Amino acid sequence: MAQFGTVFCDHFAIAHFTDGAWQEAAIEPLAPLTLHPASHVFHYASTCFEGFKAYRWDDGKARIFRLDDHVARMQKSAASLCMPVPDADLLAGMVTDVVANNVDDIPAPPGALYLRPTLIGTLQNIGAAAAPSTEATLFVLTSPVGDYFEGGARPLKLLVDDQRARTTEHLGSTKTGGNYAAALGPTLDAKEKYGVDQVLFCPDGDVQETGAANFLLISDDEIITKPLDASFLHGMTRDSILRLGADLGYKVSERNFTVAELLLAASTHEAALSGTAACLSPVGCLVYNGEEISMIDGNPGPNVEKLRKALQDIQYGNAPDTHNWLTEIG
Ligand SMILES: *Cc1c(COP(=O)(O)O)cnc(C)c1O
Repeated sequence: MAQFGTVFCDHFAIAHFTDGAWQEAAIEPLAPLTLHPASHVFHYASTCFEGFKAYRWDDGKARIFRLDDHVARMQKSAASLCMPVPDADLLAGMVTDVVANNVDDIPAPPGALYLRPTLIGTLQNIGAAAAPSTEATLFVLTSPVGDYFEGGARPLKLLVDDQRARTTEHLGSTKTGGNYAAALGPTLDAKEKYGVDQVLFCPDGDVQETGAANFLLISDDEIITKPLDASFLHGMTRDSILRLGADLGYKVSERNFTVAELLLAASTHEAALSGTAACLSPVGCLVYNGEEISMIDGNPGPNVEKLRKALQDIQYGNAPDTHNWLTEIG
């Protein structure tokens, strides 16, 4: 299978916001967009996106995971950037139409169809640095993806940065392009200097998240992760793992914790990154102040494995959808 995110289905959904209203959406052959060079998005980063998946079960029908929650999160992102907010029905309809249109291209689990709704500001005005884009385009791109862990889950190595934040405090929970640009320099530096996979951003010692995934500490009976606030992205995988963890009898502790506590927990707790692309990935070791600290023995642990399997069993149709997270298509 080609690299994640580089192959696309041949149709996509698109809608425009003009004259103060969302116009009707259409399914079109995937093709380059024509945008004026003065478009707001190019200059002032008026953009946000979503990322989630549809799975094709043995019955040939697709199931979209947490559709309404992703639509709501995109609305929140758009509002936080003062962009035209897509109507929930419009966006959900675009997603279901494009999935229905591409069901046959969805690889069987653990493959999936990755869904990427994207909103861009298209107002043609380079003088609008301090003004919102009153025109916008919304599209839903789809990408068939294979098993993220082909060849087994390799435990990740994270640099613990106790100074820098991933992005600004007030946009931490917005899925917007600029946040990834902000995390890129620190992440590339850390890869080069320490050979790590990602940076765990912990400004002033507060353990937040990496460039594109949430962070969880997991023992045999407890899951610890930062409580929801504006500083980090509210992952749907995080939320799903917490709910399934509670079902499985784990104590769920959404609380702030510091780098000092994290380092103390390393001998007794597994750690994981959560996100749609990789679901739940084990963290094998941390690098802090030039020292390597392994999470227990550095190998993928049974609790991360158990929780990942519980979520994937629902997504793949091997366990009942007890939380009503799936939308059936086809
Ligand atoms: C998308 C994203 C996540 C994970 O969100 P999911 O809904 O679980 O895919 C976590 N952190 C950041 C910064 C993200 O962009």
